[in-house]
Amino acid sequence: QKRNPNEEEFHQAVKEILDSLVPVIAKQPKYMKAGILERLVEPERLIMFRVPWVDDQGQVRVNRGYRVQFNSAIGPYKGGLRFHPSVNASIIKFLGFEQILKNSLTGLPIGGGKGGSDFDPKEKSDDEVMRFTQSFMTELCKYIGPDADVPAGDIGVGAREIGFLFGQYKRIQGGNQAGVLTGKGIAYGGSLARPEATGYGTVYFVNEMLQAQNLTLNGSTVVVSGSGNVAIYAIQKAVQLGATVVACSDSNGYVYDPSGINYETVQRLKEVERKRISDYVKEHPTATYHEGCQNIWSIPCDIALPCATQNEIDEDAAKLLVKNGVKAVAEGANMPSTLAAIDVFLENGILFGPAKAANAGGVAVSALEMSQNSMRLAWTFEEVDEKLHQIMINIYNSSAEAAETYGYPGNLVVGANIAGFIKVADAMLAHGVI
Ligand code: NDP
Repeated sequence: QKRNPNEEEFHQAVKEILDSLVPVIAKQPKYMKAGILERLVEPERLIMFRVPWVDDQGQVRVNRGYRVQFNSAIGPYKGGLRFHPSVNASIIKFLGFEQILKNSLTGLPIGGGKGGSDFDPKEKSDDEVMRFTQSFMTELCKYIGPDADVPAGDIGVGAREIGFLFGQYKRIQGGNQAGVLTGKGIAYGGSLARPEATGYGTVYFVNEMLQAQNLTLNGSTVVVSGSGNVAIYAIQKAVQLGATVVACSDSNGYVYDPSGINYETVQRLKEVERKRISDYVKEHPTATYHEGCQNIWSIPCDIALPCATQNEIDEDAAKLLVKNGVKAVAEGANMPSTLAAIDVFLENGILFGPAKAANAGGVAVSALEMSQNSMRLAWTFEEVDEKLHQIMINIYNSSAEAAETYGYPGNLVVGANIAGFIKVADAMLAHGVI
C-alpha cells in the first residue's frame, strides 16, 4: 500500500489473488525464493500519456491515456481498452493484474495488459469520438503491435471505437496490420462470435457450475446487470438455454419484467440507437423502470449475473441475494463483487464463478481472432462458438480441480487463481530473474 498509495481497486484485486495463493506457495517454496509474487504485482511497465483533441465547438480538450503492460511471461500483452470518466491508474492496474491469470486460464499463449482513458464517449458526436481515438492511437501505436501487445474493447470501447483506433494505427504503420487489435469488424479481420463471446462464455460457465450440482438453467430466473456488450449476449444465451431474464440495467436505473426481458430490444436500444435503458419501457408496457441501478439486486432470482462494472455488488446486496434464494452468481464484469460480498456467497454455499474464470470467453475469442489473422483465414460462427464453449468447460474443470487439489473443494475463487497462477509462475521461473 505504501508503494501504490490511493490505488484501492488495485489493492483489492491483489488481496483477493494473494490470499488464495497461500496454499500453493506453502506447497511450492520455489516460487517464494524466486520472488514470483513480488514480481507478479509489479507491472513490467505502465505508460501514461496526454491525449489532446478538439471538440465540435473548436475547443481543445485534454484527457489522459494509459496502457499497463503487466506480464508477458506466457505471450504478448493482451487486454481491453476502457473509455470511462472513472478510469485512473488504479483501475487500469487492477484490470491488468486480473488479466494475467485470466489469460493464462484460457490455455492460450497471451500475457496480461489493459489500458484506456478517462474520456467519456457518451453524448459525444461520432466526429468527436474519432478525433479523440485518433489522438489516443497516435501515442499508443508506439507501444503496441501484433506480437507485442494487442488491445481490444472494454467499457465504452465497442465496434465504432475499435474501427477508428484500427484506422489510425494502419494509417501510421502502413501495411497489413490485422493482428494489432481484436474486436475488429468482420470486413477488416474481425472474428465471428467475438461480440457474443464474453456474455455467451459467462453463461456457458454458469451452465457448468449448475450441471456439476445437478441443477439447470432451464426454467430458472436470472437477473443481469448492465446493458452493454457483455450483458446483451449473456441475456441472449441465458434465454436460449431456457432461462427467463427478468431485469437488466444501466448506470441510471434498471428495468424489471417478470415475463422476461426482450434482448433484441435491449440490443437495438443500446448498440444501434445508443439510448438509455429507461427507453425500454416505452416499447414494453409490462416492464417497469426503476431509478438507481443498485436496487436491481433486490429482485428475487435463481441466478445473478453482474455484467456492468467493478464493486456493483457490496455486502448488503450479496446478503439480499442470498436471503431471496439465489443459487448461483457468475461475474460477467470484472471484479463486480466486493471482497465482503464474495465472503457472503462462499459462506452461504452459493455457487460463485469469479470474473477471471467466468468472463474469460471474451479474451479467449480475441486470441482466436489473432490466430485467424495470423493464418489469414476466417472460421464460421459455429466453429468459433464451439471452441469458446470448450474453452469455458476447460476453465471450469481446471479451476474446480485446482480447488480440490489444494484443499478448497468447490471454491472456484481459489481454484481459478491457482490454476491461472501456476502456468505464469513456471514460465517466469524458466526465464530467470527478469
Ligand atoms: P459496455 O460499455 O458495453 O457496457 C457497460 C454497461 O455497464 C453499460 O450498461 C453501462 O451503463 C454499465 N455501467 C458502466 N459503468 C457503470 C457504473 N459505474 N455503474 C453502473 N453501471 C455501469 O461494457 P462491456 O459490456 O464491454 O463491459 C462490462 C464489464 O465486463 C466491465 O467490467 C468489463 O471490464 C467486463 N468485461 C468485458 C469484456 C468484453 O469483451 N467486452 C471482457 C471481459 C470483461 P451506462 O451506459 O449507463 O454507462
